Amino acid sequence: MSNSTKYIFVTGGVASSLGKGIISASLAKLLQARGYSTTIQKLDPYINIDPGTLNPYEHGECYVTDDGAETDLDLGHYERFLNVPTSQANNVTTGRIYQSVIEKERRGEFLGKTVQVIPHITNEIKERIQILGNKGTYDIVITEIGGTVGDIESLPYVEAVRQMKWEFEDDCIVIHLTLVPYLAAAGELKTKPTQHSVKQLLELGVQPDVLCCRTEHKLNFDLRKKIAKFCNVNMNAVIEARDASTIYDVPLLMQDEGLDKVVLDKLGLPTTGSPELTVWKEFLTRLKNPTSEITIGLVGKYVELKDSYKSISESLIHAGAANLTKVNVKWIHSDKLTTENCNEELNELNGILVAPGFGSRGISGKIEAVRFARENKVPFFGICLGMQCAVIEFGRNVLGLKDAHTSEIIEDCKDPVIDMMEEQKNISNLGGTMRLGAYKCQLTPKSNIHKAYNEDLISERHRHRYEFNDEYLAQYEEKGMKATGKNPETGLVEVVEIEEHPWFVGAQFHPEYKSTVANPHPLFVAFVKASLNK
Ligand code: GLN
Repeated sequence: MSNSTKYIFVTGGVASSLGKGIISASLAKLLQARGYSTTIQKLDPYINIDPGTLNPYEHGECYVTDDGAETDLDLGHYERFLNVPTSQANNVTTGRIYQSVIEKERRGEFLGKTVQVIPHITNEIKERIQILGNKGTYDIVITEIGGTVGDIESLPYVEAVRQMKWEFEDDCIVIHLTLVPYLAAAGELKTKPTQHSVKQLLELGVQPDVLCCRTEHKLNFDLRKKIAKFCNVNMNAVIEARDASTIYDVPLLMQDEGLDKVVLDKLGLPTTGSPELTVWKEFLTRLKNPTSEITIGLVGKYVELKDSYKSISESLIHAGAANLTKVNVKWIHSDKLTTENCNEELNELNGILVAPGFGSRGISGKIEAVRFARENKVPFFGICLGMQCAVIEFGRNVLGLKDAHTSEIIEDCKDPVIDMMEEQKNISNLGGTMRLGAYKCQLTPKSNIHKAYNEDLISERHRHRYEFNDEYLAQYEEKGMKATGKNPETGLVEVVEIEEHPWFVGAQFHPEYKSTVANPHPLFVAFVKASLNK
């Protein structure tokens, strides 16, 4: 559409957690809906190579792409909004930048020069930004800079943005997201933090082109004028970003504010017509007009921090809309679930979802939840560790293998029904030992999972080290737990189901990473549907 790729940078000021990811995804949606092929990238200023080894308490969910990158959860929003897969190149951390520069230094690529933050680190950052632009696939690349302007660790990124703005004058703009707080005592919205935040950017040589102002109240004409005047931006480039009842309203709110128009205008792209958002609006209509309501119990060990299960809760929202059903989630601490309180905690639920996870904490509660769902014929959906718990529970309570366990928790257990894959055994470095990314799975006709997808061969994303132990498969199948999905190349069991149960599906893969507004995930849709029938 345009001759050269356009770059939009999104920075944040005043406070963290203002929702740069949602603003970026919403803008991308509007641009995509106007026919521009758009992608979003997140630059994270921490030193971990990727968030794969980060505790979810620190950083929320680790999102996984088709190509097996362990990434920031914002990439999940990008995919859910755009319905286009992201990849390794869409998430870069300071750790990865430094790793790459240091490797180049070791190879002698800098020809004896002193290796410095400027230009070597900033060049590496600029290269990473342009990798997506140079692909030729995208008209527009939106790059979200993690953290808050003024943080020490963000400095090289802001400097890279400054250089790119200088080098690609007509093809780059900066959107700065700030907070306009409401002071109840004064009964006023305050613009000073925004002014200061923009000053801070200016000190670093970056003039923002657009300001998105998070606010709980309306930004009136005078306030907009004041912000525009003190921050050197046009009045129409002061965008009000009010709190929304659902994140899926934000693209439409941003359209009302004219964010897409002002951005296109500044990039020199035509602004005629309006975004084609029929599918999006249909989704919102379904979401907001449910005809029934259910409660799903989400059993996990990080439930205090709901961001740890972001993709799962969003998938349930998509599946709810598809079923015209309001899905309430009851967050259940697997740590606190016991044989004694199971009935009380899980009794009223329409469906039970046992979440993924690592390590021993909370695993016995998860196994109890599986038992409850199996015995009481409550629709059950186990994801990754949740599926493994279903296998352990069935082994112990149906096959009578009292010591059935996963060798992740008890390495030399008597009945390792979940065990380390042979090819993983020799890898000891925690950073890179997992089966990650998309793998194919062959489904058994007439199974519940086959009915859900209505396909024989699917592809889903993985993130795990342990697997169903094939040596036990015959015993399981004989007693009614069937392997209804297998990897067609390796034969690894990917899905288990209990025949004599209305809906009991355990999946080794993570379907939640692939649910989008345009394509609510069929397994979640089927799970919600089964739960509706309960
Ligand atoms: N800890 C389990 C494994 O590594 C499950 C991982 C997960 O739930 N993502 O196999």
